[in-house]
Amino acid sequence: MYKNKNCGEPNSKDIGSEVIVAGWVNKRRDHGNLIFIDLRDKSGVLQVVFNPEVSSDAHDLASNLRSEWVVQIKGVIVKRISGAENDSISTGSVELQANEIKILNKSKTPPFEISDEIEIDDQTRLAYRFIDLRRPKMQKLFTLRHKITKLIWDYLSDRDFTHIETPILLKSTPEGARDYVVPSRIHPGKFYALPQSPQQLKQILMVSGFDRYFQIARCFRDEDLRADRQPEHTQLDLEMSFVHQDDVMLLVEGLYKHITYEILGNNYKQNDKDFVRLSYEESIERFGTDKPDLRFGMELVTISEELKNTESNVFNHVLNQRGVIRGIVAPGAGHYDRKKTDELIDLAKSSGASGLVYILFDNNFDSIENIKDENYKSPLKKFLNVDVVKGLAKKMSAKPGDMILIVADQENKVNTVLSNLRNFLGEKLNLYDQKEIMFAWVYDFPLFEWDEDLKKWEPAHHVFSSPKTEHLDFLISDPGKVHADLFDLVCNGMEMGSGSIRIHDPNIQKKVFSIIGYKEEEIDDRFGQLIKAFSYGAPPHGGMGLGLDRFIATLAGEKAIREVIAFPKTQSAQDPLFDSPNKISNQQLEELFINLILPDEEEA
Ligand code: ASP
Repeated sequence: MYKNKNCGEPNSKDIGSEVIVAGWVNKRRDHGNLIFIDLRDKSGVLQVVFNPEVSSDAHDLASNLRSEWVVQIKGVIVKRISGAENDSISTGSVELQANEIKILNKSKTPPFEISDEIEIDDQTRLAYRFIDLRRPKMQKLFTLRHKITKLIWDYLSDRDFTHIETPILLKSTPEGARDYVVPSRIHPGKFYALPQSPQQLKQILMVSGFDRYFQIARCFRDEDLRADRQPEHTQLDLEMSFVHQDDVMLLVEGLYKHITYEILGNNYKQNDKDFVRLSYEESIERFGTDKPDLRFGMELVTISEELKNTESNVFNHVLNQRGVIRGIVAPGAGHYDRKKTDELIDLAKSSGASGLVYILFDNNFDSIENIKDENYKSPLKKFLNVDVVKGLAKKMSAKPGDMILIVADQENKVNTVLSNLRNFLGEKLNLYDQKEIMFAWVYDFPLFEWDEDLKKWEPAHHVFSSPKTEHLDFLISDPGKVHADLFDLVCNGMEMGSGSIRIHDPNIQKKVFSIIGYKEEEIDDRFGQLIKAFSYGAPPHGGMGLGLDRFIATLAGEKAIREVIAFPKTQSAQDPLFDSPNKISNQQLEELFINLILPDEEEA
């Protein structure tokens, strides 16, 4: 070994002992005759002092040291002189008095300092990811990631789950995105597809009798990159046989509570409570979304009735078109100025609304009963007399000093816009503790969604979820009414994972495929393997796929998942360190029988 102590370990108990440490030079400071360096490794930082009276050779070598050189140092742990202690590091009461130093490797001047305090742009961070990952914060994040993965392994192993790896080179496994494909050299003109998830494989494993499977699985989805999406992500994938929806939910709830508590301790307040469960319909009704953030209230209220008799064209037109009027109350936001209300209008418009109506209440009245004309402002004030406003405020439980926000449109749009406003205002108005973690279940999703552009039914999640038994008849009469044993785990307004009880009857599976418009040959081609497996005794089964990167980022208090992925891609799906994707040689293309027809430069 190059070392017998880690840099972060020595403390006052080690005073007088001889140690060998190795690591990176974090900083060098020359103080007259003495040279100090901070030596860093994964465990922390140790101050090393080179005194020419202790070793002039070591002192001479130390005078050449530069940031990020890799060195090995032998010396004695001594107490720091009084007043020189540093409480912010674990080794702050001691230092290493160096007798010997060996330079193991030199370094160019790094493009940025190894510090958590500096701002670096993403492109540079990723182009020098090996340096970025040296930062103490990044080292902590990946240690946390390891810890969470181990907790998953232990928890599930204790409950009889088996980790099974499934292939990366496979065939298209549709989960709603495009496939990444890999050409086959041995089978010219044929391609593997990388799995969007191991969905069909884990279901086939259930047919094979494995009963409880899990995998920390890589999933590949060629999607247009939205904020914080990665072309590949890691999923905790699990599947169980002979289970009902509740069995899967309770298993995952136990696991997620266990991990969150192990990581956050008593800061995790939900630990001894059940996760709130909301049906899909209830979630949409109360929060306008199937990913509700339950850390705060501000629920959506339908106010079509209260606004049906105004003279406003905006409201009347929507109501005539069978739209709805709904609203939220932003507590204490009655003082919002033009700039702030404009910001809300912009957000509403970018979410799809044609406009946003607001009413601002001042604080000069004691209760809604006593509100007067001068106590509220609104761009639509001439249509909103005191009685109408009183009725609205009562229905919505608005108070003096609050703001009411109103959106009138078709129901889906109203819900989307208000739920975006709700999330935005919840954060702006500090309605919750940013550190709080609040999981919830949303269940009973519809099985299909109508695609207005393609004029056909699409699976709301994926094609393998089982219709609720009592809805089987609707498969033929009215697919839009079919709800499934399909559920999502959500946390703080984000989807953490999806799961379902699966279809295990080949005939129902074929029926679902046909509703989506798959022809017989297409079913054979894409899902033949699953139907075949199902015809040899498939047990009832169900499971979930849970985004691990998002979960880890949430527990770490990070907003972006790329912070917890060692080598993530940029927003444009590139890796600046490896410069991927990249061209391949003509020889490789020939071996693969591939001729490129590339778009013109300008089009590309
Ligand atoms: N395969 C699904 C997904 O990746 C999850 C599941 O239903 O297990 O979203």
